[in-house]
Amino acid sequence: MLIILDRDGVINQYDGNYICSADEWQPIPGSVEAVARLCNAGHRIAIATNQSGIARGYYDTDALDTMHEKLERLVEAEGGCIDFIAYCPHHPDDHCHCRKPLTGLLDQIRRHFHLDSLEGAIMVGDSRKDLEAAHSGKCQPILVRTGNGLDTERHLDARPIPGARVAIYNNLSEFTDALLSAEGW
Ligand SMILES: [Mg+2]
Ligand SMILES: [Zn+2]
Repeated sequence: MLIILDRDGVINQYDGNYICSADEWQPIPGSVEAVARLCNAGHRIAIATNQSGIARGYYDTDALDTMHEKLERLVEAEGGCIDFIAYCPHHPDDHCHCRKPLTGLLDQIRRHFHLDSLEGAIMVGDSRKDLEAAHSGKCQPILVRTGNGLDTERHLDARPIPGARVAIYNNLSEFTDALLSAEGW
């Protein structure tokens, strides 16, 4: 199965401040191991991440590459691998097609894996934008309560996403436990 992960607040810690360097990029405990466990169970892993900090001038693509090298190194040390990272470098005012909640990043991922559709894929995020992109992109939306997740959950109760059935887990590790133990996923 293809599993698409948001980055900030799902894999690494996120408190609302931009992550501008590899030093600031710190994994949520258990998340790197969770990614590796998913890989070892035969799943493919892609990341779809909004990185408007690039357009805002807070960091550049070299710094982003360094963060992602750190992420990939940590996952590989646990025996896993990340197949593809799609990121949106644009500012919200740029009106690009890739910034979530739009589905441009998911389209890039779909093309990378030579798929006609993402139906059957799972997308895990901590923000409403992720869940909306997942739903529009025909992925099963999963919310985790790390990063923005608790806030997102609260608002989701008041304003559900029409037609979306969102499953909620405390963190990526608990989602992974559930996926790997469930029959019929
Ligand atoms: Mg996030
Ligand atoms: Zn974009």
